Amino acid sequence: MGASVDTRSKLGSTELAEISTCERLYYFKHILKLPALIERLGALLGSLLHICTRYWYAQFLPNGPPPWWYVRTLEEELHRVGVGHPDLILRAEIIFAHYLAQYAEEDRAWKVLAVEEEFEIDLDTLFEGVPLTKLIERDYTRIVQLCQEADEPLPKPSKRSDLMLERSDGVQFELDFKSTAGQYGKLPIWSSTNEWAIAWQPMQYLFIGRRLRKPDGTFRFPRLRSFLVQRLKTSEPIRFDRNEIEMCDAAYNETPVITMRQLRKRAELRADARAGMFDRDGPVGSYWACENRYGKCDYYPICHSNDRVGMIERAREKVR
Ligand code: SF4
Repeated sequence: MGASVDTRSKLGSTELAEISTCERLYYFKHILKLPALIERLGALLGSLLHICTRYWYAQFLPNGPPPWWYVRTLEEELHRVGVGHPDLILRAEIIFAHYLAQYAEEDRAWKVLAVEEEFEIDLDTLFEGVPLTKLIERDYTRIVQLCQEADEPLPKPSKRSDLMLERSDGVQFELDFKSTAGQYGKLPIWSSTNEWAIAWQPMQYLFIGRRLRKPDGTFRFPRLRSFLVQRLKTSEPIRFDRNEIEMCDAAYNETPVITMRQLRKRAELRADARAGMFDRDGPVGSYWACENRYGKCDYYPICHSNDRVGMIERAREKVR
């Protein structure tokens, strides 16, 4: 049976990360569009907290809350996303109440620039002004060629901002939430030498964010500099800690290369899928990919089953 090839050309940073993690994961999720087979309650709690945050900060946008804010109340949105998990919804509400008790006053001094907004940028303008090596040019040429062969537009890299803020000194930054459960959430030290500050994914957020333009062509976030990371501590009573992390310039300078490589890999995987060349019964990925920082990969039951083909078909049935 031929794969149902995804013809969308827009892609987010998570999708790019998944290309780097495991080609099979990319195939299952973005080409076959299989549903996740692992329930992740920690991630659901994180999503519920993001919803609380989004609703709270949206009140302070310069032009008032965006249309979605009026479509559903916070309560309705929490119950829509957390359906079947009233205990987690309550937990998220309690945690967020503690968050506000700790930070609502301090945050009043900041200007809210954007709340959970999707930004996308054309591939051919993303690298404008970036000194491209021959290597990057070759990657770019290959992406263009594969897209032309498939008669599809060039991908539009996109980022999703949890929250973009501006301090009173004009510095713009993103605010990112971390729990203590994740690999990067642990943040052993709050400094520019910690593993998160040199991870390519936050660099990619900065790279895309700094290049976003307004309709008049000027940069939208020209003073975007760093990340404010806040993590939920496990101690009782519930407390957060929060710190600004300067990003590592050397790692940042690698971002165009990594991004271009991921984009080329994506174009190649899609071409392979169209040609029916993906070996879904081939070897599984590395231990670190299958048992990742969020727990087991969403498709672990398929990859570690003796009946991979049958499980894929049953998962596909669910989305038909
Ligand atoms: S379980 Fe492992 S091999 Fe299978 S898709 Fe996930 S990361 Fe890849």
